[in-house]
Amino acid sequence: MAIWEQRWHPLREEWVVVAAHRQNRPWTGGTVAAAAAARPAFDPDCTLCPGNARVGGARNPPYDGTFVFDNDHPCVGPDAPADPAAPPAPYRVAPAAGHARVVCFSPRHDLTLAEMPPAAIGDVVEVWRRETRDLGARPGIEHVLCFENKGEVVGVSNPHPHGQIYATGFVWKTMEVELAASARHLAATERGLMEDIIRAEQAGGGPRILHEDERVVAFIPYFARYAYEVYVVPKRRVPHIWALDDAEAAALAAALSAVTIRLDNLWRMSFPYVMVLHQAPARASAGDPFHFFIAFHPPLRRPHLLKYLAGPEIGGGNFLSDTSPEASAAELKALPAVHYAATAR
Ligand SMILES: [Zn+2]
Repeated sequence: MAIWEQRWHPLREEWVVVAAHRQNRPWTGGTVAAAAAARPAFDPDCTLCPGNARVGGARNPPYDGTFVFDNDHPCVGPDAPADPAAPPAPYRVAPAAGHARVVCFSPRHDLTLAEMPPAAIGDVVEVWRRETRDLGARPGIEHVLCFENKGEVVGVSNPHPHGQIYATGFVWKTMEVELAASARHLAATERGLMEDIIRAEQAGGGPRILHEDERVVAFIPYFARYAYEVYVVPKRRVPHIWALDDAEAAALAAALSAVTIRLDNLWRMSFPYVMVLHQAPARASAGDPFHFFIAFHPPLRRPHLLKYLAGPEIGGGNFLSDTSPEASAAELKALPAVHYAATAR
């Protein structure tokens, strides 16, 4: 189905140009090499596997679930210079204070979220809840950003499944923009913006919905910027992941499993992505306009073919998409709900 239009992104308050009629134009540019061979369950040279030495000299404990530690090469940290040189106006400077942590999802070197049982993904959700609450309560922390960079094409050198957490003295730009949009929408309509987005996604039989239960819904949004961008959204508005109740947290883990399995099944490869927890500033409380959700931003638009950010995205600041969100969702919906590696074994 050819689509040629611009779609409004209500959370970012910007246009996305969808030019899906160009999808099959000839391509002579770069491609991404095929996925690496199967990995062992334990790698003696991996700095994240249980019992191994890390780069900084510390040694991992023989952990058997999740494992969280302070990043050995933090980009924000308590040891950053406290008094950087003041630049001339209009420039400003502040210490790169904060906390950077690493979350190993499991002891298994070879299991990504897509191949972990939902209960084990629930343990990762539990880490995000605990760390967001604890780091967010520390002095000087304004925001806690939890994310996973997955795959060599997004720059991950160590394949051991892990995520990162940055607790910072500022609020990340994306969340600041989403909070402002959500606050304006709530003031104007007395409805939550994400609640209206969920309602819009459910309309017409939910053509872009990939997974839904009583508590959580996952979909490729109408305004997706990436070909296989997926939002995983609790239906109840809470500002932070720790404000979910236990049933909602379990439903979130099940939805993350369902989504990552379908992404892997798409091209029968470990699907690269940037996954981000969109959370309110640390001091937000119940009733805040911000609606916590998780976004997957996969950089591939075809097997081994990257979405390049160029003039429109880097220069103009808006996205141009070559693919139709409806067609992408239809592809994912048609796939088996069981991981291809499990069926091959
Ligand atoms: Zn490992």
